[in-house]
Parts: sequence; structure tokens; C-alpha cells
Amino acid sequence: MRNGSVDERAGDRAAELVVQPMKQKWASCSSRGRLTFDSALLAQPAAFRDEVIVHELVHLKVPNHGPLFKALVRAHLQGAKTR
Ligand SMILES: [Zn+2]
Repeated sequence: MRNGSVDERAGDRAAELVVQPMKQKWASCSSRGRLTFDSALLAQPAAFRDEVIVHELVHLKVPNHGPLFKALVRAHLQGAKTR
């Protein structure tokens, strides 16, 4: 994996992924679809990394932590385990 930022544009949807050192939390998601992950995550166990990454990716679709959000996170994590 390469550090820095990847700018992906598909049609009118822009998503930006940034990996950088963060002090307060493992990851964040802006309302404009920009995801930021702590570079220290790369040293964490894969299962934990998956949880953090899935959490932020689901936020691109669901901006809150409601029942739909939790159901999607659970579905993604279960899918990852059965692979
Ligand atoms: Zn969240």
C-alpha cells in the first residue's frame, strides 16, 4: 500500500482516501465523501483494520449510527469472515 492520497472520480461522485497520522481517532469521514485513516492502522491486526475501514465505508452511504448503519456494518464484516 502506498501512502498519500488517492483521488477517484466516477461520474459526478468524488471520493478521496487519505492515509495519514491521526491523534484523536482511527478514521474519519467527511460529509463530502473524504475518508481519512490513521497510518498507525497499518500496524493493527487485520480484523480490527477491517472493522475500522468497513465502518467508514458504510458512512459514505449512511451518515449516522442508526439501525441501518449497524446492519450494513454487520453484513460486511460477516461477509469478510466467510471469505
Ligand atoms: Zn462512525
